[in-house]
Amino acid sequence: MTYGSELPEHRHIVVVGAGPRGIGIVERLTARRPRRSGTLHLVDPHLEGGRIWRPDQSPLLWMNSRCADITMFPDRDATCTGPVVTGPTLYEWATSAASRSCGDAAVAAEAAGLAPGSYASRRLCGAYLTWCLHTALSTLPAGWNARLYARRADRVSQQPDGTLRVHLDDGRILPADRLVLAMGNLEGPLTPEQRALGQFAADTGAGYLAPGCAADLDLGHIPGGGTVLVRGMGLAFLDVMALLTEGRGGSFHRDTTGVLRYAPSGSEPLMVVSSRRGLPLRPRPVVAARTVAPDEPVFLTGDAIADLVDRMTVSAGEHRRTLVVELWNAVGKEMAWGHYRELFTICPDAADIGWEAFVGEMADAAPGAASWSALEAHIGVTEHRFVLPDPHSPGLGPMTGADELAQWMSRTLARWVARATDPRHSTDSAAHRALVRTVETIAGVLTGNGPTMSPAARGVLDRLTRLARTTGAAVPCLRIEQLAALAREGTVRFAGARPEVGVSRQANTFTLRTGTLPTETFAARHLIDAWIPDSDVVGDRSGLLARMTCDGLARAIPGATPVHGAKIATCPDTYQVLDAQGRGSTRIVAVGDHASAGALGALSRPGTDAAFFRQNDIVASRLLDAAALHGAPPATTRSSAPAEEGRFAPSRGASAR
Ligand SMILES: Cc1cc2nc3c(=O)[nH]c(=O)nc-3n(C[C@H](O)[C@H](O)[C@H](O)COP(=O)(O)OP(=O)(O)OC[C@H]3O[C@@H](n4cnc5c(N)ncnc54)[C@H](O)[C@@H]3O)c2cc1C
Repeated sequence: MTYGSELPEHRHIVVVGAGPRGIGIVERLTARRPRRSGTLHLVDPHLEGGRIWRPDQSPLLWMNSRCADITMFPDRDATCTGPVVTGPTLYEWATSAASRSCGDAAVAAEAAGLAPGSYASRRLCGAYLTWCLHTALSTLPAGWNARLYARRADRVSQQPDGTLRVHLDDGRILPADRLVLAMGNLEGPLTPEQRALGQFAADTGAGYLAPGCAADLDLGHIPGGGTVLVRGMGLAFLDVMALLTEGRGGSFHRDTTGVLRYAPSGSEPLMVVSSRRGLPLRPRPVVAARTVAPDEPVFLTGDAIADLVDRMTVSAGEHRRTLVVELWNAVGKEMAWGHYRELFTICPDAADIGWEAFVGEMADAAPGAASWSALEAHIGVTEHRFVLPDPHSPGLGPMTGADELAQWMSRTLARWVARATDPRHSTDSAAHRALVRTVETIAGVLTGNGPTMSPAARGVLDRLTRLARTTGAAVPCLRIEQLAALAREGTVRFAGARPEVGVSRQANTFTLRTGTLPTETFAARHLIDAWIPDSDVVGDRSGLLARMTCDGLARAIPGATPVHGAKIATCPDTYQVLDAQGRGSTRIVAVGDHASAGALGALSRPGTDAAFFRQNDIVASRLLDAAALHGAPPATTRSSAPAEEGRFAPSRGASAR
């Protein structure tokens, strides 16, 4: 690539990572209509939406968000300082002409059948993300062009004049006046236990799959008719479950009573599944709430969150645990508000006082205290009362044997599904919505424009997010029905909570014992650890971040606890990468899971003024400020990014290499 003919003021901005974050930053950059001339370089081996959303994965791998709940465009009244360019949600895009011309017939066919509450395949989301990227690039102003590289960046070097060079794995070198690191979750390295299990598998010809995305796992060597032990019953397990059943030719159908049944193909293994709690995640209610959710938490203000965070920053040990419970109770109170607002709507006689009086009492009541019991006493029917989620997230206790566990699981899953699909429990939907909104607000305060995020606060946020995931309704209801059907049919066997994995060197098998079935030992030649590892700089297989830290361009900070991976240190407010001396770089920004600020863990929901857009806006402003490239006046609204046919193609300026 030759740059000699460019004018001296021609600027180069390199974005490493073309997942949702990289695309979101490109959107904010182009919305600002940068002045002068420049080249936007986008580097990612997976240019079609990023690694998680890439097109070459099974359509059986679904999103765990409803398609109407996903957007890559800021709300019309978003609190961004740059111009707001609105655009379609994933659902709106899927039902527009744009999805029909995305070039993938299977995606177009899937898109045609989606409803707002559908869980689309990840590859469909990737097609949406790709459209968003090219829509943004097609609006680059005159003088600017974009170049896309389906490569990995593996080194950054600095010139004597301070400018940067980004080295790609094919030997090309990109000049960079500004560099954005949007590399997402760099799945951390194996633990000593996982390495030992892998070594055992290598020595004996057994099969061990370490934690990772299901799309990246090679499940082909797990024989049909054999047994595979599985640790983890969360989203990664449900992916593996889909690939080892429907992915092997089995099929689900409803019998005449409406119960989901599984017809095996004979090629699936028996999955013996266990996890820390022994339970899958709860299904998301199918029935929508009738009430409209408020934009912000009702009781938990930004100041209250900031105060809690301040106290966390100086807390330790037992005190910090108390603060987590305090924060969790505050989240529970928001959920209770959502639950009762809905209850008063669908069942106006549920309480012996009116809504205004009830919510007035609620404001002063503290979950777990006598004031809370007094509040609940207004609700006559016990089943109508909101059950505060337990912050300790207990798992299954010991049981007498596998039969008791199987029956208990069967009843529990059936109850969950019945409740998730029962219109009388739209209160669950409202409570879940409040949970998501509150955790998003807390995350926004902690990671975005809030005070400096200490490792302690980061640990609390992580704990809160995990609690929200296990307590809230986190997975498509159909997946839980499928799990129940597979257990009924005999393809899945539940093993309970607190798994302990070992090996038998006599039998050359993995072994599994659990706290729920203490007298049983399961054995198999194959073991899958089904979860996504926490991001860790060490997990960056490109070595880019490790080299940057060696060269002093960046520094890594350890995670808050041993299970939290190391992150690239950044300024919490500007996302500037901190160098070895702790100085904020004027040229490099990093935001997302691999950085100490800006991790959100999920895509953005419309109508929530999501932190994602504010963060990306700050990054875009920073990139253009530093290069004095600001164009359009701030805070103006341009027309919506149209979803019509024809905008999907890259603009003349964008070229894929
Ligand atoms: C299996 C799975 C399913 C998920 N499902 C959902 C869901 O349904 N709904 C939801 O809201 N969230 C979901 N999430 C969370 C989701 O990952 C995030 O919301 C989102 O993808 C984060 O975007 P990102 O761009 O920060 O990171 P990523 O999506 O991980 O993108 C980072 C990109 O950087 C690239 N990269 C990394 N290193 C380099 C390098 N050296 N050179 C070039 N490129 C590099 C990677 O290839 C990748 O494409 C899921 C996550 C996982 C793991």
